[in-house]
Amino acid sequence: MSKVLLISTGGTITMVREPKSGSLVPADMETFKAFMPELFAGDIRVEIAAFDPLIDSSDIAPDSWTKMAQMVYDHYDEYDGFVILHGTDTMSYSASALSFMLENLGKPVVFTGSQLPVGVLRSDAKENLLTAIEIAAAKDEDGNAIVPEVTIYFEDRLFRANRTTKRNAEHFSAFNSYNYPALAKAGVHITYQPHLVHYSDTRLPLTLHTQYDTNVAVLKLFPGIQQATVRAILHIRGLKAVVLETFGAGNAPTAKWLYRELKSAVDKGIIIVNKTQCSTGSVEMGLYAVSLNLMKAGVLSGYDITTEALLTKMMYLLGELPDQPEKVKQLLQTNLCGEITIE
Ligand code: ASP
Repeated sequence: MSKVLLISTGGTITMVREPKSGSLVPADMETFKAFMPELFAGDIRVEIAAFDPLIDSSDIAPDSWTKMAQMVYDHYDEYDGFVILHGTDTMSYSASALSFMLENLGKPVVFTGSQLPVGVLRSDAKENLLTAIEIAAAKDEDGNAIVPEVTIYFEDRLFRANRTTKRNAEHFSAFNSYNYPALAKAGVHITYQPHLVHYSDTRLPLTLHTQYDTNVAVLKLFPGIQQATVRAILHIRGLKAVVLETFGAGNAPTAKWLYRELKSAVDKGIIIVNKTQCSTGSVEMGLYAVSLNLMKAGVLSGYDITTEALLTKMMYLLGELPDQPEKVKQLLQTNLCGEITIE
């Protein structure tokens, strides 16, 4: 019998309405289990580990990523796969973070949750969770895990975690992977796309990385942005890296002051990576003349990475390699676990 560890952090899937405020709050695992007798009725053995208390994912922080990754690491040999129940709001950040923290992963780690609490009749909780468990346990004819990656399963699709973004606060299909195809689709059958899966070198042991440096920021450009705004961000004390959200193929205003601010930040050792504000497509610095100043200032290309993956990759690399900025820069421009397409 396959064994899956269900790690619950909370999120809407575990929530009930608080009578006084009318707001949704996480219940406890006993209440959740009472709504999900199917968990223990199938032919996959499910065991549960949970955060105490369960939390809304807006309260997730890097120490929560450490807790989740540590739970996977500590129980790695005991289970065929892992499912992490998580609120949808920050799921893409946590799942991206774990994709970097769990190096040489050879088993599935599937994040899922729901848009409606498990106790609501029309909830998407059961379908999401039961399919995620099946995917976490799925093996090919040789007994190898079919998708040994960190992924997100939601509605009817399985995505590589570090390619996802929460795109919808209303519909059941809450996530999308704009720059990489789905790894599986679930209908009557689950159809896997093994040729799209990222396989780690499993001859190497699973390695857990838990060092984070949160001295990072996002600077989103917009027409009319003022020098004082850019300056305030680039002068944050202790700042080490910035996600620069640009227009289209990685373009920015040609104002001289912007060039000067960016160049002086780079000269001080701050790493700046160009990430397009578009959901689909890639940064292509030099395609338009309006991106030449960014290149001249020493801004790096983020290619087609998501903001969620770029931020968590920066935190992870800065934490793991505190005194090696050149190595951090080089790895930010390298595909570590399928998060970026570099032609
Ligand atoms: N606020 C909730 C959370 O992220 C939303 C959800 O789970 O869908 O925990």
